[in-house]
Amino acid sequence: MPLFKPEHRQLLKVLHPAREEEVSEVLSGLAAFMEEKISPLSPRFDSLAEKITSARKSLLENGICLIPYPSRYGGLELPFSAYTTAIELAGAADASVALSVAIHNTVADGIFLFGSEAQKKTYLPGIISGKKLASFSLTEPASGSDAKAVRTKARRVGMEYVLNGTKMFITNAGEADLYFVLSATEKGPTSFIVEKSAPGLEFGEDLPKLGMRGSRTSEVRLTDCRTSAENLVGREGEGFEQVKTMLNSSRIVMGALCVGVAQVAYEKAVTYSKKRMAFGGRISDFQLTREKIADMVTGISAARLLCLYASRLKEMGLEFSSEASQAKVFATETSVRVCDQAIQIFGGLGYTSEDVHRHWRDARLLTIGEGTSEVLRMLIASRELARSL
Ligand SMILES: Cc1cc2nc3c(=O)[nH]c(=O)nc-3n(C[C@H](O)[C@H](O)[C@H](O)COP(=O)(O)OP(=O)(O)OC[C@H]3O[C@@H](n4cnc5c(N)ncnc54)[C@H](O)[C@@H]3O)c2cc1C
Repeated sequence: MPLFKPEHRQLLKVLHPAREEEVSEVLSGLAAFMEEKISPLSPRFDSLAEKITSARKSLLENGICLIPYPSRYGGLELPFSAYTTAIELAGAADASVALSVAIHNTVADGIFLFGSEAQKKTYLPGIISGKKLASFSLTEPASGSDAKAVRTKARRVGMEYVLNGTKMFITNAGEADLYFVLSATEKGPTSFIVEKSAPGLEFGEDLPKLGMRGSRTSEVRLTDCRTSAENLVGREGEGFEQVKTMLNSSRIVMGALCVGVAQVAYEKAVTYSKKRMAFGGRISDFQLTREKIADMVTGISAARLLCLYASRLKEMGLEFSSEASQAKVFATETSVRVCDQAIQIFGGLGYTSEDVHRHWRDARLLTIGEGTSEVLRMLIASRELARSL
């Protein structure tokens, strides 16, 4: 099945009637590349037979992260919803590649929104074109959901900051050229860009995982790690608000990634249901299988729409934090459910075949990473209760 489908084109036409042609051209080009170079390798990334390094680099060089940025930094100036859709397609091609790219782009977004013009000129073109890989280093051993309780410390010494602490579960750690690090200063949580070559920066072992096995996850250790004062992002004490804003956008994208994972599991299940015979008929003829298929596709469509709705609010400069959280909670939980139903439709083969259950294993991360479902429900409820009805 093609990654870029008529329904994607149709939705983008509804959202951006005047730009549908150029958006579709970029997305169909990316989809063709992913179908040829990434999807076929996806089982090998999952089984660790092959690293994602070269596929990720090629996808970045094909311009996936150029989509939403201004042309003065080398971007394509296309709507954010086009980027959201591109990550959905990448999620369907390979979830680990999509995760690594999406987190990389979260750093680009942070520098674009909060960096100085000098930082943007120095770092953005390299990141969005894929010449440099980035890592978003927020979580710590003692603080994940409670990100404000950051324990990594930064103190100014002359023209540098000296950072000490440990970051945990960091995607792209060790592979990335740049680290966007949240650290505490006397004025509160503060963001820094730390280059891989910085003295005192070390990485842990790649952690074994349930899913997303192609992506690298490890500790980032900062021991008297020095970064230039020019690499302070914004001002001291602004870091927590910055990462909250960055996470709002990346939650939409993580939701979209999961829509892609669900889509590919759904397509495999539908294809199998039309071939598998039981009780003298195809299992797709049974009403209970049809109910599953109807629920799966309805969930996928609704999740995609929520992600695009939140994307559109962001494009229009409107408040979208609750909608981004709704999109992530709904899309990630739907994806886990759809992938679980796909396993059920495959029966024993679903439980024993890596190529079926890997989608469930991949989707399962994203009800945890970038804001757990519990924490996001708290955010949604707070926002809704604060709104006057
Ligand atoms: C594969 C992988 C990749 C990751 N990549 C990155 C990355 O690139 N960068 C990065 O910074 N982090 C990354 N993370 C970390 C991830 O974002 C955190 O694991 C996540 O935010 C949850 O934090 P925690 O693990 O400390 O869980 P905790 O915060 O300890 O939560 C444990 C449980 O308690 C629940 N809980 C916590 N607070 C509340 C509350 N107030 N009410 C109800 N329930 C609550 C949570 O929902 C969860 O179920 C990654 C994690 C994994 C597994």
